[in-house]
Amino acid sequence: MEFDLQQLVRNNIKNLQPYSSARHEFTGKASVFLDANENAYGSPLPDGATIAAYNRYPDPLQWQLKFQLTRIKGVPAENIFIGNGSDEVIDLAYRIFCEPGKDNVIICPPTYGMYQVSANINDVAIKKVPLTPSFELDVEGILAAADSNTKLLFICSPNNPTGNNMNRQSVEILLNNFHGIIIIDEAYINFSKQKTFIQELTGYPNLIVMQTLSKAWGLAALRLGLGFASMDIIDLFNKVKPPYNINEASQQIALEALQQTPQVNEWIREVVQEKEILASALQSLSFVQKVYPSDANFILVKVTDANALYDYLAAHEIVVRNRTKEMHCDNCLRITIGTPTENQRLITILQQYK
Ligand SMILES: *Cc1c(COP(=O)(O)O)cnc(C)c1O
Repeated sequence: MEFDLQQLVRNNIKNLQPYSSARHEFTGKASVFLDANENAYGSPLPDGATIAAYNRYPDPLQWQLKFQLTRIKGVPAENIFIGNGSDEVIDLAYRIFCEPGKDNVIICPPTYGMYQVSANINDVAIKKVPLTPSFELDVEGILAAADSNTKLLFICSPNNPTGNNMNRQSVEILLNNFHGIIIIDEAYINFSKQKTFIQELTGYPNLIVMQTLSKAWGLAALRLGLGFASMDIIDLFNKVKPPYNINEASQQIALEALQQTPQVNEWIREVVQEKEILASALQSLSFVQKVYPSDANFILVKVTDANALYDYLAAHEIVVRNRTKEMHCDNCLRITIGTPTENQRLITILQQYK
């Protein structure tokens, strides 16, 4: 099968003349910037403020940040897109590839909610091919559900809310046989024993891998989602995104944070350790029916009455995520791994539950 990216792209996007910003048009050496109608005097920050001024527009393509990501991820900067959270990467994929009212996408519930919300916002039809009861991909079902208007397939691995990795061979079969774009969401990859798919980009021109700085990297408030793909796909994302989608404060802080790999790795080790402790404590509770294996920084747990337990924990000021209404998730709660103190508090409160 010859892969033809252009055939998947919406006509209005193919023909789009993108906005050309001031910082885009001029690339030479300059010291006086009178091209963008900025405030040349500065930002109204208090005297002695330790943060930089923000009166200038940021780099639209975030090259410094991308070069730093290249060092960490081993993927060339030209193959990286940075979005205002993964949410923006997801939304742009819909806007680039899916004709509203005509095209469709495949999602595999139970999974991350934004794939569906973003489809609804963009008026794109959804075909649901549920995971099997053991939370694996239904490869045959997915390939059978796809038609000539199926543009995207979302695979979340490790999956939210179930916590498991998708079988790698299943993913590879889909990469080789699905005729649209496959988006593998690796938001939790740092906690996983599974190898990332970002090293496979050269082999699969139909692949977009998403990661995020919101989970292991501890930068959820900065809103930094990552897309890794072929240069042709990255070019499309750059053409459609808002010109300055990543603000300067986020770029600068992320640049500093990305120097702290040892700290992040230490946290990952600790979270994985704490997860084992919490899992075995949960196992020993009479009202816990199943603790699902997790490759992420959370645990899905089936209890006798999820709604009642959720309310009980909330009454003790502990918030977890009630997933009982999701497919195959009857009476399931999703619990994020906290600090050792937080986890211990949770365990103590749970042990007092009757
Ligand atoms: C948390 C999460 C994300 C991260 O979203 P951001 O917008 O980058 O914060 C992406 N995908 C999944 C499956 C998640 O659970």
